[in-house]
Amino acid sequence: MTSLNETHDPKLQSWVGSANGHSDFPIQNLPFAVFRRRGSDEFWRGGVAIGDQIVDLAQVSANGQLSGVAKEAVDAAALPRLNGFMSMGPAAWSELRRALSRALREGAPQATSWRSFLVPQAEADYRVPAEVGDYTDFYTSIHHATSVGRLFRPDNPLLPNYKWVPIGYHGRSSTLGVSGQSFKRPRGQLSAPGAQMPELSPSRRMDYELELGIFIGGGNEIGEPISIDAAEEHVFGLCLLNDWSSRDIQSWEYQPLGPFLSKNFATTLSPWIVTSEALAPYRTAWKRTGDDPKPLPYLDSQANSERGALDVNLEVLIETQQMRERKAPPARMSSTSYRHAYWTFAQLVTHHTVNGCSLRPGDLFGSGTLSGPAADEAGSLLELTKGGKERVDLGDGETRIFLEDGDAVIFRGWCERQGAVRIGFGEVRGTMLPA
Ligand code: CA
Repeated sequence: MTSLNETHDPKLQSWVGSANGHSDFPIQNLPFAVFRRRGSDEFWRGGVAIGDQIVDLAQVSANGQLSGVAKEAVDAAALPRLNGFMSMGPAAWSELRRALSRALREGAPQATSWRSFLVPQAEADYRVPAEVGDYTDFYTSIHHATSVGRLFRPDNPLLPNYKWVPIGYHGRSSTLGVSGQSFKRPRGQLSAPGAQMPELSPSRRMDYELELGIFIGGGNEIGEPISIDAAEEHVFGLCLLNDWSSRDIQSWEYQPLGPFLSKNFATTLSPWIVTSEALAPYRTAWKRTGDDPKPLPYLDSQANSERGALDVNLEVLIETQQMRERKAPPARMSSTSYRHAYWTFAQLVTHHTVNGCSLRPGDLFGSGTLSGPAADEAGSLLELTKGGKERVDLGDGETRIFLEDGDAVIFRGWCERQGAVRIGFGEVRGTMLPA
């Protein structure tokens, strides 16, 4: 598990002025993305956020005078996809982070020569930062699983396997997009209550799911499980993830094999991956309470219990067409924290590979909808509207049960703790267009 080092020092300031006091990207964060100048046909390359700027890693690779492992790492991170860099593992990630932190600090000799390596974030386009070979979506909030289970199966909300197995399903990487993605309201088979037969129709119950994305770094060979003690070395970092969901397609198709076309038409990611190392100050204890069983030994370790969870504050906002026309701010729907998850990301890695399944660099996990324990901490409209029965007030006379055409959904995430500097994930934004 990553320990604190000089790069986390809350006293560090940067010669990039906008980084100092920046709510998301101070010098203690240094998240990675793949970008190019907006509207250009420049090659895509890796970048690191500092304040409102991007450090162009292709420039650092060509002219940054790094050496040794940090030079090998920046050469890989400068490429159009981060898979090669992700595959290098924690020692290389850490060397590059330290080199970037030293070069970007106030008083660093690079303050003059690296200034020309900066590109304003406001002038950049982003892409999904890795070639995602496989995408798996988990279900790690027991609060989400219980309230959704109650809607689908009132007598039997939480199935008996939930407290033993990290539940997940294999998703689809072809429809992953980066913040700014828009997609058409999907069509699918729906079966209205009491109807004689299903119909093919645009979904009438469109929803979002508030999730974190977990990018795998180094993979494992087929047949070689990753132990709980080694699991975190395989996690490169985290981003925000919106698992757009059609509730009416889902309720008709999900039995007996789980979600299929209700989930795989679009999934939107934030452009910045906040590394596991940057998240080290915000680790927290992972606990089982009450009558919950202790996990089986392969999913249990002292380190996982003491520091396996992560306190990431999360919030959901909706911006409707009307709000854009009125130039009104988006409406806040809910807020919660990742610390409420029933399983840690180390447990997801270990469980995913326990049967010998191999993970590859750049594979992506969704955490599952991260609803907290309170009703107003729900990470989906399905829960906030009690299964589509109660309208949610957006202010100025607007309400929602499910999403309407033109609605943009925005997630934000950040970490703060006494004795550490606040760092953030930026935001992920996606818009649903008419069918
Ligand atoms: Ca999901």
